[in-house]
Amino acid sequence: MTTPEPRYAPAAAGEGLAGLAYYLSDQIPAGMDTDTHLGKRHRRVLADGQLPVAVQRNRGPGRSWIPLYLVAAAVPMPLLTPAQQARWDEVRLCSRCRELQLDPCPVNRRTGKRICGRAKCWAAEPATAVAEAMNSGELQAELRQVTGG
Ligand SMILES: [Zn+2]
Repeated sequence: MTTPEPRYAPAAAGEGLAGLAYYLSDQIPAGMDTDTHLGKRHRRVLADGQLPVAVQRNRGPGRSWIPLYLVAAAVPMPLLTPAQQARWDEVRLCSRCRELQLDPCPVNRRTGKRICGRAKCWAAEPATAVAEAMNSGELQAELRQVTGG
């Protein structure tokens, strides 16, 4: 297996981005992120004059090019209060693998539990969700409606 050649953004990517290495959104190297994600994932803001180091290329018809910045070079935002920090962590903690994620974990509508995006965490979820729904009586009520029983 050979390592793919680096790919570089064309002139169409825009001023300041042309010629930088680009990555698809699921291939972005650790340590860099978009301007928006600096705040939402890392609680940082761009430093004065901070320049992009690479580009994210979005798939799809209206291909777009989004600048990527080094997280470590961005400026940390003020610390959260303990209550805010607790809430920040709470929504990012996967109830299955117990790992803190960069983004808030989606809530399983059936169980109300937050599950991270990894397949291994969701794979085990449906059976649990069904079992919990059974225990709560929610599913029996639905079954009665469907069967008319
Ligand atoms: Zn998980």
